[in-house]
Amino acid sequence: MAGREWRQARWSEPLLHEIGSPEKTGVLLPYSSEDEELAGIVGEPEEALGPAAREEAPLLPGLSEVEAARHFIRLTQMSYGVDVGPVPLGSCTMKFNPKIAEELTRDTRLLMLHPYQDEEAVQGLLELLYKLERWLAELTGMDRCSLQPPAGAAGELAGALMIRKYHLDRGEQQRDEMLVPDSAHGTNPASAAMAGFVVVRIPTSEKGTVDLEALKSVVGERTAGIMLTNPNTLGVFEEDILEIADIVHSAGGLLYYDGANLNGIMGIVRPGDMGFDIVHLNVHKTFAAPHGGGGPGAGVVCAKGALVDYLPRPLIAESGGRYYWDYRCEKCIGRIRAFYGNIVPLVKAFLYIASLGGEGLREAAIQSVVNTNYFIALMRGTEGYELPYDPTRPRKHELVLSARPLARRYGVTAGDVAKALLDRGLHAPTMYFPLIVEEALMIEFTESEPPRGIEEYAEALREIAEEAKRQPDRVRGAPRNTSVARVDDVYANHPRSVTPSYRVYVRRQRGEKLAL
Ligand SMILES: *Cc1c(COP(=O)(O)O)cnc(C)c1O
Repeated sequence: MAGREWRQARWSEPLLHEIGSPEKTGVLLPYSSEDEELAGIVGEPEEALGPAAREEAPLLPGLSEVEAARHFIRLTQMSYGVDVGPVPLGSCTMKFNPKIAEELTRDTRLLMLHPYQDEEAVQGLLELLYKLERWLAELTGMDRCSLQPPAGAAGELAGALMIRKYHLDRGEQQRDEMLVPDSAHGTNPASAAMAGFVVVRIPTSEKGTVDLEALKSVVGERTAGIMLTNPNTLGVFEEDILEIADIVHSAGGLLYYDGANLNGIMGIVRPGDMGFDIVHLNVHKTFAAPHGGGGPGAGVVCAKGALVDYLPRPLIAESGGRYYWDYRCEKCIGRIRAFYGNIVPLVKAFLYIASLGGEGLREAAIQSVVNTNYFIALMRGTEGYELPYDPTRPRKHELVLSARPLARRYGVTAGDVAKALLDRGLHAPTMYFPLIVEEALMIEFTESEPPRGIEEYAEALREIAEEAKRQPDRVRGAPRNTSVARVDDVYANHPRSVTPSYRVYVRRQRGEKLAL
C-alpha cells in the first residue's frame, strides 16, 4: 500500500481498562513485608500516603507485558505526525525535525544536567547558547536576545512588558494603547492586554496588508506600539513596512515583531532592518524543534538599542573565554520564567542552524515560499475554493484559502473539508484563522514537504470539492476512516468533558462493575 492508502486504513484500539484485568501484572516490583499489609501498594511508605491512605489497591488495568507493548505500539501506529505525512498547519510551521538533533539532544550529558549546577561544569552548553544568541540576533537584526521565554506567547508578553516599562521609565504613562492588526495571531492582543494595554484593532486593506490610512488615524500620544507579523498570517508581505515603522515611531511608539514564523524570510530580510525594536522568535517552529502536542517551546525575545536593557534576565555572557549568566538588571522586566529557558529546543535550534549554515537557512526560506506558491498554482481554478485578498500576489511561508464557495453552494463548511481530509489520510490545515477570512483553511507546507505531498493535498481538496457537489451529505458526515468519528467540538471544549479512559477509571473506583 502506498502512503496515503496505508494511512487511510481503519484503526481502532480498545482502552487499557478494556483489555486489562486487575489481577494481572506485567512487572514484578520489589516490596517489603511491611507494605504487604497495604495489599498491592508496593514500595510506598505508609506516612507518604497521607490522610487519604488507601484501604485497597488502586484499580489499575493490569496488563501482561505483551499486551502493554502491543497496545502502545498500536497507538503509535494510529497517530499521525510529520514523520507519517504532511502536517500543513498554517502558522504552526510543522516542518520535519532532523533526526540528528533528536539523537544529540538525547545525550545523557545534556539530559542529566541540573539548573543549579556550577557554571564551570557546563561551559560547553553555555558556549553553545552564547553562539545561538549571536546567530539569532544576526538573523533578526537585533543586538541581544534573552533565551528565557518558554513559548511564543511568553516572548510576546515579555516584549509587551518591555514596551510598557520603557514608556513608564520615560515618564510617558499615557501610552496605554497597543495597535494590533485584525489579521494578528490571537496571542498578540492577549499578550498586550495581559501587559495592561488597551488593544486597538487595525483593519486589513484589500491588498491583505495593514490599512495605512486607518493606522494614521489612530496613532498618537497614547500609542505605546504596534505588534506586527511580517509576512502576516495571510502569508502576505507588508510591503509598506518602512512607512508603517515611520508612522509609529514618529508618534513615539515602538514596533514589536511577532517572529513566530520567520520561515519565509530567514536569511533574506531582517525585522531589525524593517524598523522593528523588539522581536520574538518561535524557535520551536522556525528552527525545527517539534512542538505539536503542546511543548516544550522556546520563544526567544530579542531587542535593539535602548530596549536591550529591558530584556528578561539573565542573559548569557562571555569574558576571557569563560561563559556565564549575567543577572545584572537595572531596567529589565525581571524574569519571565524560572532558570534559563527550555534548553532542549534551544539546543535543537542550534543544531538546525549549524547544520544548514547561513546559505542553507536562506535556501530553506526560499523553498518554503516556492512550496506555498506551487500549491497555489495547483489549486488555481479549482472550483469551491478561493484565495481572498489579491490572489495575484505571491504568498510567502503560508496561504489562507477560503472554502466559502463550498459553504454557499452546498452547505459544506471548512470544518467539513478538514474532516474529509482526515478520511483521505491527510492532516487538516489550521482552521477558522485568521478571523478575517470566512471558512478559512490556513495552509503551510514548510521547506521540508516534498512535491508529492503538496500534490496529494491539492488532489484531495479537489476530490472533496467534487464530492461536495455530488454528495454533500457524505462530506458533512466525514470522517469515516478514523478511529474516532466526528467529535462534538463544543462538548470537547467543555471543562466537564474528560477522556473516556478516565471516566471508566472513575466508575471502577466507585465500585461499579463495568462489563468489559
Ligand atoms: C504560534 C504563534 C504564536 C504563539 O506561539 P506559542 O509558542 O504557541 O505561544 C504567536 N504568533 C504567531 C504568528 C504564531 O504562529
